[in-house]
Amino acid sequence: MIETPVPASDIAPAGPRADLLGMPFDELATWLTERGQPAFRARQLAGWIYSSLAPDFASMRTLPQGLRDELARAASIAGPRVRTELAARDGRTRKLLLELADGRLIETVLMLYPASAEGRARATVCVSTQAGCAYGCTFCATGQMGFERHLTAGEIVAQVVHFARELRRAPWQAPDGKRIDRVTNLVFMGMGEPLHNYDNTLKAVRILNMPAGLNIGARHMTISTVGLVPGILRLAEEPLQVNLAISLHAPNNAMRLRTMPVTRKYPIEAVLDACQEYAARTNRQVTFEYVLLAGVNDAPEHARELAALLAPLHQLCHVNLIPVNATAAAYRPPSGDAIRAFRDTLRTGGISNSVRAERGDDIAAACGQLRTREAHGSETGAAAPAPNPAP
Ligand code: SAH
Ligand code: SF4
Repeated sequence: MIETPVPASDIAPAGPRADLLGMPFDELATWLTERGQPAFRARQLAGWIYSSLAPDFASMRTLPQGLRDELARAASIAGPRVRTELAARDGRTRKLLLELADGRLIETVLMLYPASAEGRARATVCVSTQAGCAYGCTFCATGQMGFERHLTAGEIVAQVVHFARELRRAPWQAPDGKRIDRVTNLVFMGMGEPLHNYDNTLKAVRILNMPAGLNIGARHMTISTVGLVPGILRLAEEPLQVNLAISLHAPNNAMRLRTMPVTRKYPIEAVLDACQEYAARTNRQVTFEYVLLAGVNDAPEHARELAALLAPLHQLCHVNLIPVNATAAAYRPPSGDAIRAFRDTLRTGGISNSVRAERGDDIAAACGQLRTREAHGSETGAAAPAPNPAP
């Protein structure tokens, strides 16, 4: 693992400045015209922020000096302060621990993928939507922290802009020779539940999607949810084609309830009905995530039950199997043989599936793990190793 010192320019200013990263184009335009600026300034400023990826207002050379001074006084594009930045040994996973203006900590991860049978090389940012999370899934480090607060749209966008700036400064050379100098994909799979923070998450999606912004296609974005039915139905009505991922993690309600308390409020049947609706309205496939927990949900009969459960959706769905990333909770990933057996049983049952490659194990890449580690470290005044699961 490589720890990188944080440059002073990444330190966010304090104070009640307008966060321009949280403004869709029309809001940015209004903000500028209210300050007596001509209409064309909005496109110019957005160009500096998202196309040139300028780190500050001082470097926006085509803006009049007076406007640059006013922006420096009244606005910000700095984003949260970087507390720690870690890179996995293979350099393909980079993780940030960010400190928000109120001192709360969140995590963001960049994952670099070489070209494969599944598509071109890509740079995917995994963003957080909340500090902490209210849903308390037992295998999730973030869930064990409890809910702190929603992130603003600007705090969500800033996570992506950080890595966009980094890739521009130092593009990734993929093994096939391709240079990746932009963020190509987004997954809303960091800390927090995106549909619990619906308005700010969707606002961030629009900002990141806008042509005058980073222009990341909605089809290249995936929102992952614990299964909040009203949020899924609302998302189905949006004129956006984002991918939906459902954290299912069990083939029946009784079992799911043991690891995911949200099941009491939204049983699996209601979640699957909402997914049918989502697929019908958007024409998008739904992905089901299934965290494999050794001795808990990984037996062949669980795979058979899961295949039967998803059979009515089989044309519209794909299952992503994720061997659990060990957190402080007493869970372990299954053996390779158990994972293969689970896959094969699902496939025999007619359900397309894949196993998600583990990422950045040496940098505590699972959601909430780095923050947990830092918290343990600060108790002892030193960096502590990632917490191990109880025996
Ligand atoms: N709250 C949303 C999105 C954030 S979690 C959700 O639950 O879908 C993103 C994904 O990481 C979810 O599928 C979640 O179940 C999974 N996850 C959480 N803890 C994990 C762990 N320890 N190992 C592997 N995956 C984990
Ligand atoms: Fe929250 Fe998702 Fe973690 Fe569950 S898995 S506690 S919903 S972040």
